[in-house]
Amino acid sequence: MHFEDTPEEAAFRAEARDWLAKAAAAYANPPTAPWEEAELVRLGRAWQRTKAEGGFAGILWPQEIGGRGGTPMQASIFDEEEHAYNIPTGVFITIGMNMAVPTIRRHGTPEQAERYTRPTLLGEMTWCQLFSEPAAGSDLANLRTKAAQRQDGSWLINGQKVWSSWAHHADYAILLTRTDPSVAKHKGLTFFVLDMKTPGITIRPIRQISGKSDFNEVFLENVVIPDANRIGKVGEGWACAMTTLMSERAGSRGGESDLDVATVIEALRGTDALADGAAQVKLARWWTVEQGIQNFRHRLTTRMSKGEPLGAEAALVKLAYARKLQDIAAFAMDVEGYEGVAGDSPLREQAEAAYQWGAVMRIAGGADEILKNQLSERVLGMPGEIRADKDIPFDQLEA
Ligand SMILES: Cc1cc2nc3c(=O)[nH]c(=O)nc-3n(C[C@H](O)[C@H](O)[C@H](O)COP(=O)(O)OP(=O)(O)OC[C@H]3O[C@@H](n4cnc5c(N)ncnc54)[C@H](O)[C@@H]3O)c2cc1C
Repeated sequence: MHFEDTPEEAAFRAEARDWLAKAAAAYANPPTAPWEEAELVRLGRAWQRTKAEGGFAGILWPQEIGGRGGTPMQASIFDEEEHAYNIPTGVFITIGMNMAVPTIRRHGTPEQAERYTRPTLLGEMTWCQLFSEPAAGSDLANLRTKAAQRQDGSWLINGQKVWSSWAHHADYAILLTRTDPSVAKHKGLTFFVLDMKTPGITIRPIRQISGKSDFNEVFLENVVIPDANRIGKVGEGWACAMTTLMSERAGSRGGESDLDVATVIEALRGTDALADGAAQVKLARWWTVEQGIQNFRHRLTTRMSKGEPLGAEAALVKLAYARKLQDIAAFAMDVEGYEGVAGDSPLREQAEAAYQWGAVMRIAGGADEILKNQLSERVLGMPGEIRADKDIPFDQLEA
């Protein structure tokens, strides 16, 4: 029982908790040992199917496409309850559910929506996102991967993508390409779904300092995509990409690496740190931010579930969330002194993971500075950044 729950929410929480107690019994927290990657993906697909069959996957999706037709509050409650378990999942599931399917449903044909929605919901299709390139990150519209239409209508793709998270375990990709270099850079882009088993794709892992390889470089050499896999009109890829990015930003959260005010207060209860007035002010401020993010996210997810577009304001969720996560994690490590950086305190490990994830979130899906630019220009109507290349045909820009 949560004190803030209405009777309906409490009933839903009880239902979710009962269901999880049986369905997720094998995934007790803390985990016994980390899964090897391929095993994680196998279990993640199976868990997604279990959830879909139990009526808890796609809680916000309409019932006619296999979802629950539920409320944002129910989705939050289920996330909270699920979080008590060590559930096998990852971006191979969330890119499909939160980014690919919403984009395809918004910009694709009914046949395309049908083709990809249900298999993704059931964990049968995993996804990656092929947007970023060596010279196109913050300035995504600078991308160079070329798609040329052939006589039979199919497309020939050549180029290189980078930072492609979990591409090595993806069945499909959402891919942004340049189809017309003779027009301004945002105008000549086209969006595709790519079957990752298509000949001509080379996936090269990027080794991280941690020893893991979550990202890849993806090389596309004479890769053929049928025209049936084009999402939206030729030249309208930028609008599709914005739908993907806004959905990603609105859904931003920490998952395993989350750290909230309630957890920090619980861990520090009875210590001098909590009696300090300056600490109380900080915690109260972060708590206010948490409430604001939750309410705003609910508003955005309601819009998304009705198929309405999200505006640039979706960036606010990621911007506020990532910053708060990093700040509160730094605070938790600071107040614990030596324990906070090198000790065995239970808070230390969580704070360290949250700090690192906060740093990641401040870049992935659009860096802080870019999101601030978008909010100031498109939401607040402030003067735009100088973009000298905006109206110049892409093929006349200096490399
Ligand atoms: C964990 C993680 C996962 C990712 N996964 C994927 C993925 O699956 N698929 C994918 O396509 N991409 C992925 N990315 C890439 C991500 O989208 C880019 O890293 C991001 O858009 C920033 O681009 P960049 O790395 O090229 O940095 P740059 O664009 O080179 O930016 C470097 C710095 O300069 C600043 N800067 C740049 N332009 C401006 C400006 N106009 N005004 C002010 N400051 C500016 C930026 O804010 C940043 O601090 C991932 C990134 C991370 C960190």
